[in-house]
Amino acid sequence: RAKAAGRNTYRFFTPEMNRDAALRLELETELRHAVERGELYMVYQPQVDLETRQVIGCEALMRWSSRRFGEVPPDRFIPLAEESGLINPIGEWMLNRVFADISALNRTLGRHLAVSINISSRQLREPSFLERFRHYLDEYALAPDGLLIEITESLLVEDDEATMGCLDALVRMGMRLSMDDFGTGYSSLSYLKRFPFSEIKIDRDFVRDISTDPGDAALCLAIIAMAKGLGIQVVGEGVETEAQADFLSEHEADIGQGYLFSRPLRLEDLCGYLGVGVRSEE
Ligand code: C2E
Ligand code: MG
Ligand code: MG
Ligand code: MG
Repeated sequence: RAKAAGRNTYRFFTPEMNRDAALRLELETELRHAVERGELYMVYQPQVDLETRQVIGCEALMRWSSRRFGEVPPDRFIPLAEESGLINPIGEWMLNRVFADISALNRTLGRHLAVSINISSRQLREPSFLERFRHYLDEYALAPDGLLIEITESLLVEDDEATMGCLDALVRMGMRLSMDDFGTGYSSLSYLKRFPFSEIKIDRDFVRDISTDPGDAALCLAIIAMAKGLGIQVVGEGVETEAQADFLSEHEADIGQGYLFSRPLRLEDLCGYLGVGVRSEE
């Protein structure tokens, strides 16, 4: 048992731990202190224009380096944070961190890189979310149209008034909306009519076999055609091979994101990737 093993035992997180309720509780207890202990950090994954291969933006992704569990994957701790309500303080920490990083990066670059952040429904339903969002936006003097808010379809399915109201307000503030993991979950095309999405991200499940599986290829083409018809830009997620990038590019997808271009990077490594370090030496 974890307790018997002692307080400072360092263990790697494994999928089997998913089924262990006691461990889940332990994880939540640790997560409760993650912000104050400085265990959370952000990484940024470059997004490239598929035609020019220029970096045009990045997605901010959260990481948790727990003193007890080691690196815990976001697919594990984000749902836990959502269920427990911890996503609100954690999400606030994230906004502050990302906005600070991006305003510093933009200053160094001398241009504005678009940044995408993931926001979950629990955050949008929190009454003080909008006010805090606006506060950080002002504090770091970020242009709202340089920010994309990624939300998942399942969030929209919940369809509650607070969530919808919050999204409307963000759009009025000039924020752009991106529909994440498109094609998974409960795809309802009506959401694309209801909100002015500027971007759709094709889920990596569809991108994986895009150049070999005719079914997946057909689905991607249909998504791209639909998005184009609506004037919405298309991002291919999880691009790992040149064949996938070529397919997306040939069929008019706009942006690619995936290990082919870069893994998610810490801010200083992102600067290196963007060649900022080289330029500042001149
Ligand atoms: P997502 O928003 O769909 O993020 C894309 C995921 O795909 C990331 O996983 C990224 O590391 C991974 N990925 C990117 N390129 C490739 C590739 O070429 N191959 C493969 N196999 N994977 C690739 P990650 O970082 O583990 O995040 C998982 C999910 O956790 C995210 O999915 C998002 O839903 C959630 N998440 C991450 N950070 C945050 C956050 O700050 N707030 C919220 N609310 N959710 C977050
Ligand atoms: Mg995302
Ligand atoms: Mg996604
Ligand atoms: Mg996802």
